[in-house]
Amino acid sequence: MRPEEADGNSSLSQPRCEIEKTPLVEGECQRPGEVRYKGILLVCRPHAALLELEDRAQAVLGSVFRMDEWLEENGSRNGDASADEEFLGRVQHERDEAVGALRLIREQIRSARKALSQ
Ligand SMILES: [Zn+2]
Repeated sequence: MRPEEADGNSSLSQPRCEIEKTPLVEGECQRPGEVRYKGILLVCRPHAALLELEDRAQAVLGSVFRMDEWLEENGSRNGDASADEEFLGRVQHERDEAVGALRLIREQIRSARKALSQ
């Protein structure tokens, strides 16, 4: 593999941020692409940080969803067949923690978006 095409257009060799290829952000970004996101998109650092936050929010949201499902299936309403109280309480607590974490990530996303739009 050649490290670089030696055709003299080095001024064009700085690739631009490719954030517009995601559904996340509308419009183009004029910053240079510096970070490879998931090995596919080349994005600028602030957009890379935003994408990472969005991913984390998705992951936490997913686990909250799974815990909600579990709680619904194993909740005390099912009577004697339900999971024991202590374990149930622990899952409930974990779920609440995850929701709190999600709120925090959402705040970070909001301020990251705000910083990007300025
Ligand atoms: Zn960007």
